[in-house]
Amino acid sequence: MLTVEAAIYMAMEQQNLRPDYAAGLSLGEYGALIVSKALDPADAFRIIRKRGIYMQEAVPTGGAMAAVLGLDAAAIEAACEQTEGIVSIANYNCPGQIVITGEQAAVEQAGEACKAAGAKRVMPLKVSGPFHSKMLTGAGEQLADEFKNVNFRRIEVPYVTNVTADFVTDETQIQNLLVRQVSSSVRWQQSVERLVEAGADEFVEVGPGHTLTGFMKKINRDVKVFHIEKPEDLEIMLTDKIALVTGAGRGIGKAAAKLLAAHGAYVYVNYNGSEEAARQTVDEIKQNGGKAEALQCNVADFQACADMIAAIIRQSGRLDILVNNAGITRDGLLMKMSEEDYDQVLDINLKGTFHTIRHASRYMLKQKSGKIINMTSVSGVLGNAGQANYSASKAGVIGLTKSAARELASRGICVNAIAPGYVETDMTNGLSEQVKTQMLAQIPMGRAASPEEIANTVLFLASDQSAYITGQVLCVDGGMAM
Ligand code: NAP
Repeated sequence: MLTVEAAIYMAMEQQNLRPDYAAGLSLGEYGALIVSKALDPADAFRIIRKRGIYMQEAVPTGGAMAAVLGLDAAAIEAACEQTEGIVSIANYNCPGQIVITGEQAAVEQAGEACKAAGAKRVMPLKVSGPFHSKMLTGAGEQLADEFKNVNFRRIEVPYVTNVTADFVTDETQIQNLLVRQVSSSVRWQQSVERLVEAGADEFVEVGPGHTLTGFMKKINRDVKVFHIEKPEDLEIMLTDKIALVTGAGRGIGKAAAKLLAAHGAYVYVNYNGSEEAARQTVDEIKQNGGKAEALQCNVADFQACADMIAAIIRQSGRLDILVNNAGITRDGLLMKMSEEDYDQVLDINLKGTFHTIRHASRYMLKQKSGKIINMTSVSGVLGNAGQANYSASKAGVIGLTKSAARELASRGICVNAIAPGYVETDMTNGLSEQVKTQMLAQIPMGRAASPEEIANTVLFLASDQSAYITGQVLCVDGGMAM
């Protein structure tokens, strides 16, 4: 268990995921000490091995533990005190879930007293000893000898000990606390409450199983809880982020919506005319275990965008990620281009992007955080014959992106643009073979992109991995614009 925890934590460090605080339940306290840098992992492994041996040797005749569900701590403490023999609380796990420990008969008797006092259930636990009971005081004393060869270092990450449910700031206290921990109650609920009091609002459970995540939900519903058990869990986490992707029923928008949802975001799938396609995107996200819903809105309509974003805030309370992807083409040579074709492209591609930023930034400013990602194009960077309207709109998106980035940077909001080259979607499917061949000839990598390849960049810009990037245009174009 500790090996897995330590290995995961080392992998987290490699990704610059460093906690403000650390805490661990029972054996997990050694993991917290590794995180705090006070205890060398090699020492931790050696000591917990001895800890296990001493604990087993201390109770050759065994003992018992039982989980008491649905009764408050004071009533359980009273039941233990009134029972003859050794019985006490081993773990204050969370409201409604407390574990008692001690001599077999005393645990059974205290369990009956708890039932009489109104406990919903008392469940005997299959354990090899009465952990965290006074019966293990001798084991703790034996362990003290082992610490003689351990050099506790300065605590770099403040950690909360099970014994007092408070921060330990002085490394010279650690040895005594670990000795006491063997035979005293694990105050997990109180430890979490202490961390919340200190300002912790995101907790990461590291290691096998979801036990602590379950406890967290009962201790405090307002904090966010993540869980890292497998290498995939260390990938970009967007858990609980609220995202809006415009034009997400098809093409690049669909791929982006699916990828953001696969990384934990709740995704609003915007569409204008393609309701069926948007519902299909939502269904696919849900089939993958993600969360999404479809939202109709013509991004060219200022008021409709205000209403769409207000509806998101009403329902979800916030908006963390805005992907301005909706776009159209109305290609034609400049000399023959109608005013209507020019205006329509500008209205959707450029004004549409302004509309959503205009309304979303209001809420992001209050949140003091947000990621805005605008889909521009290589045509906006280089220009393209036959696409004066489209190129103008996409060049406009670049200017809009940079100005918004400058205005919003100091308030924790990053605004960036992605300039794809040639991507295989409905937008390019209609082009003639001759035009496609000409486009491919301009791509150093010699092939078109898939929508998923553009979505990967959306994910990067939506995540904390790009926290220090704003006002940039990332060309994802196989080398077209260099
Ligand atoms: P696509 O397959 O044609 O999809 C366009 C999307 O935009 C559709 O979901 C559409 O939704 C939505 N949309 C259009 N007008 C809208 C409006 N008024 N309000 C809301 N949504 C609207 O295009 P794509 O290739 O995925 O392109 C996505 C973005 O990438 C566009 O901004 C495009 O300019 C840009 N891009 C594409 C390429 C490429 O090679 N494909 C290259 C560079 C940049 P409805 O169907 O519901 O109207």
